[in-house]
Amino acid sequence: MSTLRTPRELADRDLISPGQLGEIERVAEHYAIAISPAMAALIDRNDPNDPIALQFVPQVSELMTTPEERNDPIGDLAHSPVEGIVHRYPDRVLLKAVHVCPVYCRFCFRREMVGPQGLGTLSPDALDRAFAYIAEHREIWEVILTGGDPLVLSPRRLSELMQRLASIEHVKIVRFHTRVPVVEPERVDAALIAALRASGKTTYVALHANHPRELTPAAREACARLVDSGVVMISQSVLLKGINDDPNTLAALMRAFVETRVKPYYLHHPDLAPGTSHFRLSLEEGRALVAGLRGRISGLCQPTYVLDIPGGYGKAVISPDAASMRDGCYAVSDFRGVEHLYPPA
Ligand code: SF4
Repeated sequence: MSTLRTPRELADRDLISPGQLGEIERVAEHYAIAISPAMAALIDRNDPNDPIALQFVPQVSELMTTPEERNDPIGDLAHSPVEGIVHRYPDRVLLKAVHVCPVYCRFCFRREMVGPQGLGTLSPDALDRAFAYIAEHREIWEVILTGGDPLVLSPRRLSELMQRLASIEHVKIVRFHTRVPVVEPERVDAALIAALRASGKTTYVALHANHPRELTPAAREACARLVDSGVVMISQSVLLKGINDDPNTLAALMRAFVETRVKPYYLHHPDLAPGTSHFRLSLEEGRALVAGLRGRISGLCQPTYVLDIPGGYGKAVISPDAASMRDGCYAVSDFRGVEHLYPPA
């Protein structure tokens, strides 16, 4: 079985009804579709609200864009000094080498950039300029490979990237943001793992998963192979209406990470990406859910609930008492202490 990429393939696999084909084809004109075999197998066709299906099967509601939504919700472009680099915080950069993913999440914050019609893969010249930028900026301690999903690259390409980073003395940490261990666990083989290591650098892998069912035995084994090799794993999840916005599901997800030796790191408030309002809950609801985790599950299992402030101002930690209301909006502070207004749901 191969990755499902067209509305017709979704209909053939009973993931949408024949009657939905026309409207889902309209969605596909705007946003990429990909459901890997592992995720397609995990979907319960008898559950109309299956949390795996909701993450990957397109819905007609994606065609509705609300006024506050934007093509670049976390403001990557405002902080991109050269193609492929986002330098938002002083000591770290994003390196976006590829804008392809093994699955396309319906709530993706970079949905206007990823996929076959997205920004593609950095050309060799653009990659040279990106590495030159990292080498020239001695304050860069950490490089975060994201995109897209960097683990779709071949071990040879990944190894080349790591060797280039290995030659830059001031870079100490290399972090990969990926969904691959969950959605294509078979890809995490000895060659890929070897490619992620480089002499003198510490490798982190931030695993993106949103529901405990994603941590299948195969996914847990893929993570075990990574951790056993010396890679440090952390998690990132998005708080999504209808998928994980209840205390039992969140608790089970965080416990599943810890059992898999993946330290819960970020729980993201969903971004203002186009056509994703059906996934968003209010900050108030998110805060209540996160507050409910305290005491309920071990401190090891507690994620940090964060909002990426629209416009590229970076993350605000949304602790149970962090965001106050002003002018009908939430007031949140960025890492420089500057206040911003964020709309209610
Ligand atoms: S894997 Fe990440 S970048 Fe790719 S579609 Fe999902 S959220 Fe977007």
